[in-house]
Amino acid sequence: MINVGVLGARGRMGQAVCEAVAEADDMKLAAAVDHDEPLETLTEAGVDVVVDFTLPGVVMDNLAWCIDHGLHTVVGTSGFDQARLDRVGEMLGDDPEVGSIIAPNFGIGAVLMMQFAAKAAKHFASAEIIETHHPRKVDAPSGTAVHTARLIAAARAEADLPEMPDATAEDATGARGGEVDGVHVHAIRSAGYVASQEVRFGGPGERFTISHDSLDRASFMPGVLLAVRAVPSLPGLTIGIDDLLD
Ligand code: NAD
Repeated sequence: MINVGVLGARGRMGQAVCEAVAEADDMKLAAAVDHDEPLETLTEAGVDVVVDFTLPGVVMDNLAWCIDHGLHTVVGTSGFDQARLDRVGEMLGDDPEVGSIIAPNFGIGAVLMMQFAAKAAKHFASAEIIETHHPRKVDAPSGTAVHTARLIAAARAEADLPEMPDATAEDATGARGGEVDGVHVHAIRSAGYVASQEVRFGGPGERFTISHDSLDRASFMPGVLLAVRAVPSLPGLTIGIDDLLD
């Protein structure tokens, strides 16, 4: 049995994590903590692994406290740039006793979509990304689209592919979309969607499309539970769940 504590337990993701942990046969929801409860609740409850879905403004303090108290952490909270990741690495130290998995995306389908896109990229002349999200999303393109574009660009560069064929000479309305590392990204905001992405590849005589739709927060839970099971045997910092899928 893994004793799990959830930080941000009354948030949208936190509630879903509490339910998923409570339903898992090999886990116990030992503590559910939100902003008005002390972190000591975690140690008093004998927690082994802490899952944090809180806010970028508080997650670093939470992590420092957990690492200091010998607790493994699984973190989904956004806002981890390289400087923050380096800081967590320092907190864990050179000979870490605990593990911390920080993942910008716990959706297994979304992570596989990115892996498959990176694998396909070197084989096709053209690649473009179309992402569609709910209209309340404030940033465009999505972090997933940016990451996918970077993976595609890196794979193309490694394979020494020439520029993508595109005769567009005029684009007064921005109809060709945005560009991330030379890969066109089109962002659609539409009612009726949660988070969807298509990666379209084209080559002589063929088209190849990878498509992923996230319909509910439930899609993140298998990835979160996978990380909770893995983190006790992964001392130090692990970024993303890519390596756990193998
Ligand atoms: P939310 O606002 O619904 O929930 C955040 C919760 O954290 C709230 O209940 C809040 O009271 C609580 N909180 C604030 N300070 C706290 C503290 N010091 N200690 C404990 N709890 C505290 O937000 P959400 O939609 O659940 O998203 C949470 C985070 O997860 C965001 O950063 C979001 O971008 C991220 N997210 C990541 C993934 C992923 O796959 N990695 C997926 C979805 C959302």
